[in-house]
Amino acid sequence: MTDAEILHYITTSDKAETEYLYARAREVREREYGLDVYFRGLIEFTSYCNNNCFYCGIRRDNAGARRYRLSEAQILDCCRTGDALGFRTFVLQGGEDPYYTDDTMAGIIRAIRAEFPGHAITLSIGEKSRESYERFYEAGADRYLLRHETANEAHYRAMHPAEMRLSNRKTCLYTLKEIGFQTGAGFMVGTPFQTPECLLEDLRFLQALEPHMAGIGPFIPASNTPFAGRPAGGEELTLKMVALTRLLLPRVLLPATTALGTLSPAGREKALLAGANVVMPNLSPPGVRTFYSLYDNKICTGDEAAECLRCMSLRIKATGFRPSMVRGDSRITFPPQTYPGGSGIALSRKLHKKAWQ
Ligand code: SAH
Repeated sequence: MTDAEILHYITTSDKAETEYLYARAREVREREYGLDVYFRGLIEFTSYCNNNCFYCGIRRDNAGARRYRLSEAQILDCCRTGDALGFRTFVLQGGEDPYYTDDTMAGIIRAIRAEFPGHAITLSIGEKSRESYERFYEAGADRYLLRHETANEAHYRAMHPAEMRLSNRKTCLYTLKEIGFQTGAGFMVGTPFQTPECLLEDLRFLQALEPHMAGIGPFIPASNTPFAGRPAGGEELTLKMVALTRLLLPRVLLPATTALGTLSPAGREKALLAGANVVMPNLSPPGVRTFYSLYDNKICTGDEAAECLRCMSLRIKATGFRPSMVRGDSRITFPPQTYPGGSGIALSRKLHKKAWQ
């Protein structure tokens, strides 16, 4: 697609055109992944954060944010609960919390890996050095989510304090890929100061990076943040970005995000119908969930893990798709024809690394 075509889809409000876009994205998704929707169990293990992103509810300067940390034992308990429910991917997400040193993180990863040798371990803990990423990889982590947030320099500046750099975030993403992580980038839709051209840049950046995963969700204002009074991103624009991403990166793993479900009751179902093929229900202990408040009114904060799984499965089936509890590795990484078995777990980590490049 040319820049002009992409910008046209980003800006059009023509119903027939947007429906066509969603239908094409759905077709490509079915060609690549069939009707399966992969589950990831999200464990939000710390709400402490050293960063001060203007949009985020757990930013350092938000004195109103409730803070908690999960111990290694609590994290392992979440994994056990998830495993018993059938989850084969654990996503450890948190603020940038110095309490979890590289040693501590590597210990947690090793403990999960020892107990769940065949499960995928995904990290989402922000910008680190190459050495730190390598340690996490060696300890047994397979995947890493690090949204670039926006690929436009001026827009990045307008959303982050001066000490944060878009160039570093991008470097981190390339480093993660090089090390051998299945890597996820992504961005928010409808953040303050975002233009259609910014969104085009986001798509072009994704095409250049070729990530295995892409997280795309609407911006939703969070209380006590510099962007508290700003309007939320639009549902339709978010869906269009999901669809365009599917068309430009046919094999990418694309979540129907919780933020989209928060913005609109059927938002996640609509994302599935626009090319998304992953959901990430919450495995965090219900007692702390409301404190991981990236934005206001986040859904699913009161439910037990089992209830989240049941609810998501019903929604997926009702939308015409098939809930799948396999690891759901990226097809970019593991073309089934090359690695029959699919998961690649049998490969040594060294071979893993080679196979992924
Ligand atoms: N500290 C980690 C995890 C961040 S939280 C990191 O830096 O990668 C995960 C994602 O939540 C962020 O990447 C961001 O895109 C999203 N997020 C944060 N605040 C948000 C808001 N107000 N509305 C919607 N999404 C938000």
